[in-house]
Amino acid sequence: MFLFKQRKFLFITVASVIIAALGTASTGNADSPRSPKYRYPNFPNQPSFKRRVKNVILFIGDGMGDSEITIARNYSVGAAGRLTIDTLPFTGEYTTYSLQEKNPKLPDYVTDSAASGTGWATGNKTSNGRISTTAGTDKDLKTILELAKERGYKTGDVSTAELTDATPAVLVSHVSERSCQGPQDMAPCPQDKKSAGGPGSIAEQSIDHNVDVLLGGGKQRFDQTIDGGKFAGKTVIDAAKAQGYQVVTNAAQLQTAQPGSKLLGLFSPGNMSLEWAGQPAIIYPGSGPQRCLENQRPANQPSLADMTSKAISLLEEQPGRGGFFLQVEGASIDKRDHAGNPCEQIGETVALDRAVKVAIEYAKEHPDTLIVVTADHGHTSQIIPAPTATNHSPGKFSTLITADQAEMTVNYATNLPEQSQEHTGTQVRIAAQGPQGANVVGVLDQTDLFHILARAIGAE
Ligand SMILES: [Zn+2]
Repeated sequence: MFLFKQRKFLFITVASVIIAALGTASTGNADSPRSPKYRYPNFPNQPSFKRRVKNVILFIGDGMGDSEITIARNYSVGAAGRLTIDTLPFTGEYTTYSLQEKNPKLPDYVTDSAASGTGWATGNKTSNGRISTTAGTDKDLKTILELAKERGYKTGDVSTAELTDATPAVLVSHVSERSCQGPQDMAPCPQDKKSAGGPGSIAEQSIDHNVDVLLGGGKQRFDQTIDGGKFAGKTVIDAAKAQGYQVVTNAAQLQTAQPGSKLLGLFSPGNMSLEWAGQPAIIYPGSGPQRCLENQRPANQPSLADMTSKAISLLEEQPGRGGFFLQVEGASIDKRDHAGNPCEQIGETVALDRAVKVAIEYAKEHPDTLIVVTADHGHTSQIIPAPTATNHSPGKFSTLITADQAEMTVNYATNLPEQSQEHTGTQVRIAAQGPQGANVVGVLDQTDLFHILARAIGAE
């Protein structure tokens, strides 16, 4: 498989025009029987198509489907306005389905964040709940961060969720079940415990992967005690310090952190605090009309933009050759969509947008930086017509007063109103700017992002 990919890459560099004209496909892979074949886009003479990439910054809006983007745009800048993520020059869509655990030949049309993250992190589809391991067979799958490290890239992993949540986890760990987040959370993954000779929980594996910059929530997982191996009896934080990490726990400490050693930032016991607040959606007549309460995040927690800015500057200044690979997740778009709270969901989307702006500013001075912005799956929220007594959704909804000074009704109806709302199986946006950014154009699959990133770091 590897040789085949190498040959194909050479072939493309020599005769990319012919390749594109013939529509020659990229490799699929044995572990993902239902992965469609990636086709590089049809305009390889586009100036950005082949340029060398030094740095890669990948943004994931968890649950940030087209609907979530549109809701955030309408509310914050108006229907005719444009968010920062709308300004990226190359846009495609990708499919996100996962695989069934009992029969991995069949698709599971609605993915979770673990399976979808495994898709772009490894180029392989898997079943829901798995972190960079194969559906049915539980084999470890090599990740894009591992490949980047092998090639001398400095690496970073940033999230507003717990650092052990699925999206940050897929880069730096391999477990059969996403809930195995700390050494005391290992009941679903006994084979992975350090005391059983396994690689340990997601928290332990994150540290053991020697990622240069780890920033997010989830301190409660890193405060747990390791049950086996060299650091048995120590907490994961103590093991991190013993392996050369400086550890910070608030925004002021993050600001003063210096390059020269690895950095672990844990700013909250669980998920980090939300940016905005507002009334949750309720069944008819719905909540609102309302305006959201902004600036709700406590000052001792950094914003996603602050974490992105610091991660970039530390990775830039960290000793070592070459560029960096950084993933940044806006996690609570998904979490507040599950909860049916439009203001909280929009606040998190706007926070991700601000973080993307930080990267775009950096790329103005460092044009060899590839920026990709995408989501892991679609979600429940929809913009619906204004409800009336005889004509309204059976779900819950809220009406917001937008930047247009108009009313927008946001509906949540993928589950019973009192239940957690569900992901959806729709394709989602992928956008990019910078060298090789044109590779995202067209209708792709989530696993294609792995190959785009692998190509950008010279691994394919
Ligand atoms: Zn979710």
